Amino acid sequence: VRELRVPANGLVLLVGVSGSGKSTFAATHFAPSQVVSSDAYRAIVSGDANDQSATADAFELLHHVVDVRLRRGLLTVVDATNVQSSARASLVKVAKANHVLVDAIVLDVPESVAVERNRARTDREHGAHVVARQRGDLRRSLRSIRKEGVRRVHVLTPEDVAGAVVVPERP
Ligand code: ATP
Ligand code: MG
Repeated sequence: VRELRVPANGLVLLVGVSGSGKSTFAATHFAPSQVVSSDAYRAIVSGDANDQSATADAFELLHHVVDVRLRRGLLTVVDATNVQSSARASLVKVAKANHVLVDAIVLDVPESVAVERNRARTDREHGAHVVARQRGDLRRSLRSIRKEGVRRVHVLTPEDVAGAVVVPERP
């Protein structure tokens, strides 16, 4: 069993390409109210969780909800790809403004596995080129994320995921 310690009143960033298993991991390890997902806010502002034109408005709401939850001392998990440093930076900023810690859980899945999983999905329409671009972003992220104000970076391979348990702890 691999224990993933995360801040009980802080922020957890899930990081991984589409199909890496972020939403599945979130549903397995966290309560629904603890998980703030970009899909959910895209759906709220556009009626369609896949509407990429809704991304900016969705993230405006997502950041606001993260801000309020952290101010209220609630463990908050961001279920979005978070493969770009700019996306992580804005979330780290919200955490810092609330004086709470940020940990990341990276789902490091081979590109072929993610593409294969996405092929079988009915809730996603984007193709292999999207995963390829995200995989490039993730590769760069794995080099830089430890210098971005994230405290712990838990990197899980597909083999690690089954044996992982999340342990929220008070600083
Ligand atoms: P997106 O960024 O597109 O929202 P995601 O990272 O949230 O993707 P999921 O929706 O959790 O990915 O998973 C994608 C598909 O892979 C789903 O069909 C899910 O059932 C499957 N899957 C998730 N985790 C695993 C796993 N550990 N083993 C096998 N299949 C998995
Ligand atoms: Mg998802």
